[in-house]
Amino acid sequence: MSHKKFATLAVAALLIVVVAWFGHVTNQEVGEIVQRQFTEQQLLLTRQAAVGIEGFLEERTVLIEVLAEEIADESPENMTSHFMPVYCRSRGISSIGFVNSEGVIVTGYPVEDVAIGLDLYATNKNASFDRARDTGETYTTNPLLLVQGGIGSHIGVPIYSDGEFKGVVFATIDISTLSERYLADVIPEGRGHVYMITRIGRSLYDGAHKEMIGKKYIGSFCTNDSSYAEILSEQMQEKEGTGYYFDESSGEWRIVAYTPVVWRDHVWSVATSVPASDVDALVHSVYRKQILFIAIVIAIILAGSGSIVHIFSRWNRELENEVERTTEDLKRSNTELESANTRLKELDRLKSEFVSMVSHELKTPLTSIKLSMDILRSLSGSEKDIRTKDELFGIVDRNIERQSRLVNDLLDISRIETGNLKFNLEPVDLYDIIRESVRSMRDVAEEKGISIHTDLEGESLEITGDRDRLVQVFVNLIGNALKFTEKGEIRIQVRMVAGHPEIRISDTGIGIPPDELGRIFGKFHQVDSGLTREVGGTGLGLAICRGIIKGHGGSIRAESEVGRGSTFVIVL
Ligand code: ADP
Repeated sequence: MSHKKFATLAVAALLIVVVAWFGHVTNQEVGEIVQRQFTEQQLLLTRQAAVGIEGFLEERTVLIEVLAEEIADESPENMTSHFMPVYCRSRGISSIGFVNSEGVIVTGYPVEDVAIGLDLYATNKNASFDRARDTGETYTTNPLLLVQGGIGSHIGVPIYSDGEFKGVVFATIDISTLSERYLADVIPEGRGHVYMITRIGRSLYDGAHKEMIGKKYIGSFCTNDSSYAEILSEQMQEKEGTGYYFDESSGEWRIVAYTPVVWRDHVWSVATSVPASDVDALVHSVYRKQILFIAIVIAIILAGSGSIVHIFSRWNRELENEVERTTEDLKRSNTELESANTRLKELDRLKSEFVSMVSHELKTPLTSIKLSMDILRSLSGSEKDIRTKDELFGIVDRNIERQSRLVNDLLDISRIETGNLKFNLEPVDLYDIIRESVRSMRDVAEEKGISIHTDLEGESLEITGDRDRLVQVFVNLIGNALKFTEKGEIRIQVRMVAGHPEIRISDTGIGIPPDELGRIFGKFHQVDSGLTREVGGTGLGLAICRGIIKGHGGSIRAESEVGRGSTFVIVL
């Protein structure tokens, strides 16, 4: 694996760990927040319930106080007609009655629920009555079990008429019935229940355990040292708060929120109890959503890092290819530079050779001409001098010719190189050209004692070409053959090969080494041999020949064996 890939995967793994850790921490925090909010919400509900029941109790109390004022001047016999509508309109009031100033219940409604004729003093139930009479204030009694079932409290309101104590109007408030009405719906069905206890821990209402009314929880539901007992004792101390406890009967943890209910002299405590699994379910649903979110984030990271790795490797590959290409290009241009350098060096060498050769070739004839002229000037008109003069003029002629040949060669090669060598193309007889060339070289050949044989197929061979230029080629090749042949013969053979005339000019001279065969057609190139130096020359002849043959759309090559002779082959 490449470093880049490894680094990307490491970063991805690190990101995943960070995201997972962050998710875990957030989960915990969110769990705590959800739990807190849940219990706070429960406490709010409990307060609402408490306010509701307080309002109800206060309302009933005020109703009885208003009733007492209403009937202050009524005779006891007429009171029932006032009690009846109040009783009927107000739920939770289970009876209304009147105790006269002697402490005897004289009237009430409904008649069957009021102990008419009961003497409070005789039954020792006169404490609240006495207090009301003495203070002139309304009293409420501690909740007590009612004869007709349930639990209730009495409200007693003293009546004074013109400053004279007339008695006490009392009503029985059925707390359990009212609580059932006001507290039962605080918590939705099946999600928990509400209960209310007195300051000494007796149940006034219990939505889930009706049978508990009037009984104490501690001892029935839990032991003194249980966590529930702690909550209950907080409730009995009129505190507000929330708590957890393990419910033995249902085998589950429950959350309780409790708050005090104040009714005149009494302070009770209302509480809501819900299973802790509710909050757990809520937390778990939040967890599930968070885990899903984290999983999506991780998937995105993985997919993202996968694509990054992919993109990186592609870039890498592209970069490597690019580097490879550039290296190749560099190598190529390096090689090109090297060969250009070699060519330049070769050109430089050629230039030097050219300069030395040209200066030598130009100077030699000039020196001969100068010398001849000097001698000519000193010669008299004697017969001997006249002969010498003829010879000297001959030398001057040959040297002028030699120089003009050199200049012509230079002009030709320059035209060939610049593409300015013009050909006068016309139908010509190749054999004629060859015969003319041989003729012009015959003297030289005879002088050297070398014979020139021509081997031509048929009488004539018509081709299209520049007669003078072709003669120039053959004269040059025959001249070379003569120059580099000491003895033997020169043979010129023409054959049609694959529809093209092939001319072979062979000699029996010194030959050309194999490594020189390709180079002799280069300008100014001469094979470095004693004979070459002896016979002189410019090294331009073969270059011009090749230029002319190429100009005719043909080719020229050399075949040779050192010491046995050379053959120049032209295909037109
Ligand atoms: P030049 O003859 O003026 O030196 P050329 O271009 O005609 O220039 O020939 C180049 C060289 O090729 C000669 O110097 C010689 O070394 C070699 N050469 C040409 N023709 C022959 C031949 N027939 N036999 C041997 N060497 C030859």
